[in-house]
Amino acid sequence: GIRLEDELIHIQQFLAAAEIDFKLEGNPKLTNTSLITENVLSMCIKEAVTNVVKHSGAKSCSIQINPSRTDLVIKVKDDGTGIPGNDLYFKGHGLQGMRERLEFVNGCMDIVRDSGTTIVIKVPNAFK
Ligand code: ATP
Ligand code: MG
Repeated sequence: GIRLEDELIHIQQFLAAAEIDFKLEGNPKLTNTSLITENVLSMCIKEAVTNVVKHSGAKSCSIQINPSRTDLVIKVKDDGTGIPGNDLYFKGHGLQGMRERLEFVNGCMDIVRDSGTTIVIKVPNAFK
């Protein structure tokens, strides 16, 4: 889906099939985000969740949507094994592709290694 709201329906089904608990915090109906940015966000979240299913062995995954006055921060968090090693961006194309697409819409991303993995995605709001 292009709309985050639609993509999250697929993600919910995908995680349920993988028997990973899912929790959504915040409103996926975005009001301040351009359609191209929302499209990039949907692709990034889909890749992040695919990684959770493929690599993390997590029991649960949560997605937090936090809008502020100037930007939108989305976190995809899992309680799995964490990303091994230092070569975060070089093993596959997923994380690298997310970073490049986010740069294209003036966004950015951080990978936090806590008890599992948290992908932090930040994009600017659209001016209205
Ligand atoms: P591709 O996305 O190109 O199909 P990939 O998933 O292996 O391949 P990336 O998405 O770039 O590549 O991820 C790079 C590596 O980081 C993975 O191979 C995996 O080892 C690790 N990784 C990514 N996300 C997670 C996660 N949530 N938990 C544990 N390891 C992860
Ligand atoms: Mg991947």
